[in-house]
Amino acid sequence: MIRKAPVDPADYVRPELRRLAAYHLDLRPCRHKLDQNEVPWDLPLRIKRAVSEHLVDTDWARYPDFHADALRQDLARLHAHPWGGVLVGNGSNELLSLALTALVPAGGEVLGAEPSFGLYRSFVLKAGGVPRFLPSRPDLALPADEIEAEIERDPHRPLLLCTPNNPTGDALPPDRIAYFLERLEAPLLLDNAYGEFCRWDYRPLLAEYPHLVLFRTFSKAWSLAGLRLGYLLADPRLVTELIKVKLPYNVGHAAVAAGRAVLAEEDEARRRVRLIVARRAQWARMLTEEGFEVLPSEANFLLIRCTPVERAAEVRDGLAARGILVRDVGGYAGLAGCLRVSVGSGGALRDTHLALAEIREGIAPHPPAPKAKEEGRKGREGRQGLRTGSVERTTGETGIRLRLALDGGPRRIAVPNGFFAHMLQALATHGGMGLDVEAVGDTHVDLHHTVEDVGIAFGEALAAALGERRGIVRFAHAYAPLDEALARAVVDLSGRGTFSYTAPRDVAAGWVTADFPLTLVADFFQAVADRGRLTLHLDVLSARNGHHAAEAAFKAVALALRQAVALRGGALEVPSTKGTLSA
Ligand code: PMP
Repeated sequence: MIRKAPVDPADYVRPELRRLAAYHLDLRPCRHKLDQNEVPWDLPLRIKRAVSEHLVDTDWARYPDFHADALRQDLARLHAHPWGGVLVGNGSNELLSLALTALVPAGGEVLGAEPSFGLYRSFVLKAGGVPRFLPSRPDLALPADEIEAEIERDPHRPLLLCTPNNPTGDALPPDRIAYFLERLEAPLLLDNAYGEFCRWDYRPLLAEYPHLVLFRTFSKAWSLAGLRLGYLLADPRLVTELIKVKLPYNVGHAAVAAGRAVLAEEDEARRRVRLIVARRAQWARMLTEEGFEVLPSEANFLLIRCTPVERAAEVRDGLAARGILVRDVGGYAGLAGCLRVSVGSGGALRDTHLALAEIREGIAPHPPAPKAKEEGRKGREGRQGLRTGSVERTTGETGIRLRLALDGGPRRIAVPNGFFAHMLQALATHGGMGLDVEAVGDTHVDLHHTVEDVGIAFGEALAAALGERRGIVRFAHAYAPLDEALARAVVDLSGRGTFSYTAPRDVAAGWVTADFPLTLVADFFQAVADRGRLTLHLDVLSARNGHHAAEAAFKAVALALRQAVALRGGALEVPSTKGTLSA
């Protein structure tokens, strides 16, 4: 057999696809990821746990339901749409690509608009179609008049529209969409990935126009980008055909379970959306004050234009040097000098504002903060290594970055309450620990979420730093007086979270300061015990005022913890007859 010279197998790829640019993703570690239009908050742990438990009980050796019918039915209920007209996919991207494959005749044109979602061109080309995307307008609004003219010219071409549009944030009102639908004699594929953040609802058009297909995603408002889940709403007759084209089992057990769980907790998503929409206005104000042109947005991101256009690269790189990633969309049609910024948490807003002020003033960046991670002592090598744990948590209520070093280190405490800061300082100092904590929270409501979430972060960092808990003393107790007040803490780094607390009646329900009730001390240590997986008995044995009671309590826990986490000279065993404390 004669072997020819090896060819480049890439030469076999269809030339129109080979010309496509690869989708770009920036995976650098960062403090605030504002370049992918995700929401800043992960789901509450409670929901993640419930989904995980459900998955453990599921048989992974079995295929999932062919079409994920239970999830389709949940979605049908949510949208008051026939369930036969719902189709779910591995992200809405998959469904956009699938629908174009099914609906575009070979070599047929697909109408669209520039600038818009970068993947549309590749979806159309993969489907064997020809993108006919109208050029951008100077005001960057969706070119509705121009689309109308094109429909008049030839109404038989499918129309692919993104509203609210990525990356401009612009959205068309439903009557404009209805006008297109009246005239189109082809499907209108309406990508509504950011629909939850938009004032307009296109769903009522579905009942009237069977050639409308609406695409939605779980990646944004529902905080599920990492599990890949999207869906479309359309006429059931069309969905019946699309089901034949889609790959079987395109959505696995994990995505189905997560999707159903978040739908059952719809209020959580609604709360996130309300916060983002409120924050969007704050971000727009801040960015305008910083001298950018900010385009109006109906989505969870903002497009900003820099003048001169060279400023965009300086801002992008200056933010990145400070751990804040934004998307440079300067290469899109008509978007020279533009950056796209996801609406982030309150902490991200504050950090971005500070960073922009530094860039403006030419102040050098501080070293970037550590990325969200847990560094735990792992077995023997931890003996020589650092016993540290880092936690970054962002929820709808708080944003916390905390680093704990069991064997001492710098103490930097930035929390939005002087007394709480004083207590954390006492905990770190008398515990002999390094503690770097930065917290922001909804203190306009009260201090509760912030204090409790710092407790959670402290506990998680403690557990990470302890690793397998080899060679530690484990049991300890301490008394701490403060004048007339006396507190006792008994600690067992048991691997199980248990907390017991008592305080004298006279002070138990009282206030330490005007905004800090003594009950918060118990809430804080409850969270520490839960997440640090330790048994803690904390008793304020006597006290005449709340301040003394709280301070004695924090010091007693600090002194007991200091002894319990200490290393027993020489011994590296896990101090447990069971052989483990880390379960
Ligand atoms: N459409 C638009 C306009 C988007 O911006 C995105 C994600 N960035 C998607 C669809 C894809 O969403 P999914 O994660 O559901 O695939």
